[in-house]
Amino acid sequence: MDIDSHAGELASDLGVEKQEVAADLETLLEYDVPLNEAKQSLRRKYGEGGSGGTAPTAASVGDVTTTDSSVTVTGRVLTVGMRTIVYNGEKRTISEGEIADETGVISYTAWDAFGFEAGDTITVGNAGVREWDGEPQLNLNENTSVTTETEPLSVPYEIGGERSLIDLAAGDRGVTLEVAVIECEQRTIDGRDGPTDILSGVLGDETTRLPFTDWDLHTETIEAGASVRLEDCYVREHRGVPSVNVSEFTTVTPLDRSVEATETAPTMEIGAAVAGGSTFDVELTGAVLDVRDGSGLIQRCPECNRVIQNGQCRSHGAVSGVDDLRVKAILDDGTGTATAVLDRELTERVYGGTLEDALDHARDAMDKEVVTAAIAAEIVGLEHRVRGSLSVDDYGATLDATEFEPITDDPADRARTLLAEVDG
Ligand SMILES: [Zn+2]
Repeated sequence: MDIDSHAGELASDLGVEKQEVAADLETLLEYDVPLNEAKQSLRRKYGEGGSGGTAPTAASVGDVTTTDSSVTVTGRVLTVGMRTIVYNGEKRTISEGEIADETGVISYTAWDAFGFEAGDTITVGNAGVREWDGEPQLNLNENTSVTTETEPLSVPYEIGGERSLIDLAAGDRGVTLEVAVIECEQRTIDGRDGPTDILSGVLGDETTRLPFTDWDLHTETIEAGASVRLEDCYVREHRGVPSVNVSEFTTVTPLDRSVEATETAPTMEIGAAVAGGSTFDVELTGAVLDVRDGSGLIQRCPECNRVIQNGQCRSHGAVSGVDDLRVKAILDDGTGTATAVLDRELTERVYGGTLEDALDHARDAMDKEVVTAAIAAEIVGLEHRVRGSLSVDDYGATLDATEFEPITDDPADRARTLLAEVDG
């Protein structure tokens, strides 16, 4: 059944104009609300006596539930995050954030420019209520009135979106950060409207590091080594971790102080790290139990960079593979297991030679497995400290390593290592 048919069915059930229901339904679907949930919230909206129903009751924020169809709430605006979405083929600016009173905090989406700012005390009349992630959320639409109150409401929550990176979670809006830009590169990606230039990289502050994307190319201010204040960012999940998004609504200001980004990553037991889910920057210590298939010399697709088997890419068919080196090491500390993936640079260090050396080695032996065996001989059975980005999914935990160091606690060992380096 298409959207039109769903709207028709709803309209006849609820006894309202189909056009009206269709517009609302499209809005909700455009906003990624699942179809069934969208239909339910429209049944709630129109259900109780249709559009001319009873006036919504004034409620405390803490009392709003997902069974309310609409409410009137007075609260203090904590955050305002601006964003554009494409609706019916047109760009539309919406704002999202949080409103609070003394009883609680609730998130909102405003589909019109109501003009309120963080810190304002407002009365939101006849706001729709919808369920988002199991929680009620205010929906400020064309039926909603917003009145600014002169008396500021005192609330036990911080006003404004000032945050540390460690506190960010996917879904946060209107966030303000003071950060150091640790890595930054300009890339072209396949965007909604074709190829799009973006900046991407890593931000850091005193608490942690997180990836970022700048959709509006602030190339003058956002560059590696800079310290900047970013006002009005939003946070999305990227590979399981929070990612900071800078948009056309973000104000970027260079700071006259330099933000000291943390040098170290939090150290965790592997079991606890895996149970906690994906983490952008973490340090794990464990013994390498084995190296997995796909370690050593590999070939990648020149189109998509994925590892290929026998010259065949799953997406691009027969391709001329590009040689590369990598290690997939099984790391275990007794509490859990993760697969540490070493890129070419780290693998060359472990192997003790370059990619070209490895290719020569394999050619001489007429077997590329000699490279894998040489790598395994260096690391299997030994304790290692591995820093990197941990992603956890149904298939297990993968640590994309940025650092991979053997631990030699035994002074004699350390002396031997030093001597070997001097001799080498
Ligand atoms: Zn490919």
